[in-house]
Amino acid sequence: MIIRVLGCSGAIAAGCRTTSFLLDGSILIDAGTGVGDLSLDELARIDHILVSHSHLDHVLSIGLLADSVLRVRTAEQRGPITVHALPETLAALRDHIFNGVIWPDFTRLPSAEAPVLQFKPFAVGELLALGEHRIEVLSAAHTVPAVGFAVDGGKGVGWWVYTGDTGPNPILWERLATMKVAHLVIETAFSDEERQLARISRHLCPAALAHELQFLKGSVDVHITHIKPGELEAVMAEIVRLDTPHRIRALTAGEQIDLRETLGGSGRV
Ligand SMILES: [Zn+2]
Ligand SMILES: [Zn+2]
Repeated sequence: MIIRVLGCSGAIAAGCRTTSFLLDGSILIDAGTGVGDLSLDELARIDHILVSHSHLDHVLSIGLLADSVLRVRTAEQRGPITVHALPETLAALRDHIFNGVIWPDFTRLPSAEAPVLQFKPFAVGELLALGEHRIEVLSAAHTVPAVGFAVDGGKGVGWWVYTGDTGPNPILWERLATMKVAHLVIETAFSDEERQLARISRHLCPAALAHELQFLKGSVDVHITHIKPGELEAVMAEIVRLDTPHRIRALTAGEQIDLRETLGGSGRV
């Protein structure tokens, strides 16, 4: 099981792409600008898109992807790509993006009978079984209805966990306390200097991250995501000063996390 980081920045700039992860080539977790680095063939292999919340930096490639792969998938009779999200998120996508004004309604194109996209709601706590993959929907605490995801890497490996965009989130730590967490991808969108902005926008800053990580047991590989372009060094300088048993580093676009290894745990490739 390989997770490819397509984007992990809080905004765009040259070399910075917004949130998206690709699981084994066929499952996209969030659809930020990083999706645009995939070839048409790679795009056409995506059968599922899991969406953490409705914010633009996590959803803007869904519509563009649908347009790109429509011809290939129709010719190959591949059936629709399933977009999985909370009902509120799916309603937001329908009302504000696939509304015929911002973008066509690809849940009815190229035809209502055989569209390129279909929407499927999930709930927090649900365990999704997508082919051989098991993915649990985790709670997140953001300004709009939001979730995170935990991907089951199997018995010997444990779970790859992505928090989604979130502020302080006690419910998440209660759930993770019962799981073997191999990797935690957690956001730190702001520096401590901007802690007020972090609080209002329900994101984390390094001080808030330190508070949250107290509730993560053991010693875990922690990957920081959603840092704004230009802020990486400042935010990471604050994070490396934290007193924590975890191995913390900044996630980088293009890296891959390998969840297959069972001996000696999982690692980066
Ligand atoms: Zn957000
Ligand atoms: Zn975001």
